[in-house]
Amino acid sequence: MVSFKGEGIVLRVRNIGEADRIVTLYTAQKGKIRAAARGARRIRNRLLSPTQVFTHGRYLVFPGKELHTLSQAEIINSYQDFRDDLEKMAYASYICELLDTFTEEELPSVELYALLLAAFSLGAQGRFPLAARAFEVRLMQESGYAPQLHHCLGCGCAMTGNLLFTAEGGVVCTQCAPQYQDALPLSNGTWELLKRLTEWDVARLGILHPTPAALGELERLMRKYIDFRLDYPLKSLAFLETVRAMPAQKTDRSRSD
Ligand SMILES: [Zn+2]
Repeated sequence: MVSFKGEGIVLRVRNIGEADRIVTLYTAQKGKIRAAARGARRIRNRLLSPTQVFTHGRYLVFPGKELHTLSQAEIINSYQDFRDDLEKMAYASYICELLDTFTEEELPSVELYALLLAAFSLGAQGRFPLAARAFEVRLMQESGYAPQLHHCLGCGCAMTGNLLFTAEGGVVCTQCAPQYQDALPLSNGTWELLKRLTEWDVARLGILHPTPAALGELERLMRKYIDFRLDYPLKSLAFLETVRAMPAQKTDRSRSD
C-alpha cells in the first residue's frame, strides 16, 4: 500500500502495549485497512479521540511491512452517542462486525463505504432497526449473495405472492417449499420492503417507514440468511440481544431526565 489520506470510519479498536491502539478503518479509497496508532491512549494525544470506535474522520496512514501507521487524524463526526447509549452501541457494533466479517483488507468498495455512512446516519436519527436491516440486505448483495426475489429458487416460476424465504438466498413457492426445510413464510409487505432495500439508492432509504412487524419479520429472515454464510457466530449479536431485552434500563433513564 502507498500512503493513504482520506475519509474512513473506525470499525474496531484493539489496545496494545502501554498506550497504543490498533485501529481497523473502513475507507472509500482502500476498503478495510488496519493501522497502529502509537500513543493514542495517552490523555493528551491528538489521536486519542479520532481513533475511538465508530468515529468518522479523515486519516493519514503510512504503509509498513507488518502493520501500517496511522499518523494523523481529524474528526468529521465523532458519533459520541453511539458510545454513550448501550442500544446504539450494540447496533453500531453489530453493523461494524458484519462489515468486518464479510470484507477482506484493502479491497475498496465505494458502495460499501456509502452503505456504512448511510446506516450510521440513519442510526444517528434513532432509526437503527431500519439501518441494521438495510445494512444486512445490501451487504449480502455487495458480497455476491444477492437474494433472488422475483422467481422461485426451486422451479423458477414468477412469484406474485404467497411465498417463503430460504436461508440459501431467495424466495420459493409453496409447491417447492417442502424441499427447503428452513423456509419461513414471507408476507407481501415484507417482500415489498425487501425489494426496496435491494433496489433503492442507499441515501434514499430513510424515507421508508416500515411497520415494526415487517422489520421483525425481516430480522428473522435475514438472521438465517446471514448465519448460513458465517463460519462462527457474531460476538456483537449476543450483546445486541441482551441490550434489547433490557426495557427496564430505558425506563429508568427517561424517568431521571
Ligand atoms: Zn417453486
